[in-house]
Amino acid sequence: MGRIRVLDDNMINMIAAGEVIERPASVVKELLENSIDAGASRIVLKIEDGGRKLISVTDDGCGIEAEDLETAFMPHATSKIRGSDDLDGIVTMGFRGEALASIASVSKVNVVSRRLDSIQANQLEIDCGQKKPVRPCSGDYGTTIEVRNLFYKLPARRKFLRTANTEMGHINEHFTRIALAHCELDLTLINNGRQAQRLAGKQSVRDRIGQLMGKAVSEDLLETHAEEKGIRIRALLGKPVQARGSSKFQYVFLNGRYIRDKFISHAIKEAYRGLIEPNKHPVVFMFLEMDPHMYDVNVHPTKIEVRFQNSNMVHSQVLAVMREKLLSTNLDVEASLPG
Ligand code: ADP
Ligand code: MG
Repeated sequence: MGRIRVLDDNMINMIAAGEVIERPASVVKELLENSIDAGASRIVLKIEDGGRKLISVTDDGCGIEAEDLETAFMPHATSKIRGSDDLDGIVTMGFRGEALASIASVSKVNVVSRRLDSIQANQLEIDCGQKKPVRPCSGDYGTTIEVRNLFYKLPARRKFLRTANTEMGHINEHFTRIALAHCELDLTLINNGRQAQRLAGKQSVRDRIGQLMGKAVSEDLLETHAEEKGIRIRALLGKPVQARGSSKFQYVFLNGRYIRDKFISHAIKEAYRGLIEPNKHPVVFMFLEMDPHMYDVNVHPTKIEVRFQNSNMVHSQVLAVMREKLLSTNLDVEASLPG
């Protein structure tokens, strides 16, 4: 008899969960992105004990039908793409159909969801992949997903979680990225029962940066817009004197998604060349918009990296727009360079 077995679905999910769900902040990211894809305008995020005890996201989005509730938690189940053609030109934050299945395989999940056209809400409980039957319940329009005891049956993973403060730091960072990319959203963050952040919907980017990072960061930003060769760029650039010791205040977004890209990072560095000390990092908030056919997001499970069809063009556009703004502004460069 052979020795090779195909693992059961639950095991497959648990293992796959390692790819997208590294820590509480990854759950936060996936759930917030799902709410955005559901067309939510208000989202409330609740965290307890750095996300180990509870991560809960409530949105006023489209909701999930009773008959879709179980399916939504199956691996590779998605409403966002159908065929391989759809992979070219992804417009939603999600498309892999992995997040809910992964999360539910490594925690206790309770979901309550109601569609606008439904007379009632429906509830589903899943404990490490074990589903209870879907049942009707009372509830508002939209969806609430509660995730408890992350990794509680996986000591090997739980052991790698850091203190509540550290995990909360990661959660805050993901919350910030999504908040900056979606200024239209009304966002509330409640940490251990206390309101930690309340961002009004339809805020200006500058106001939002100010609320998230302080007026000292937001007030002096130079703003520039440009559109050429199908790339729309909006950038808020820190003055050279604001440059930091780390690149923590560099945010790049592509069509509403936070990304890290070495070509764009390089362009940012080039744009400030000669204006700041080489070991310092400028404050930059960059929002790029382009046709989703111009890049591929199906590169990395968490989609933090994309592959541009023409990365040289993206690089040169970003550099040109930034450089022009920086050089046309009267900057107190002397103050930021060593005498
Ligand atoms: P993906 O986002 O890649 O499609 P997920 O596992 O994150 O995969 O979600 C599976 C499906 O569940 C989604 O395609 C969507 O149809 C549904 N869904 C998830 N979260 C929500 C939500 N907050 N509101 C409405 N539908 C949701
Ligand atoms: Mg998703």
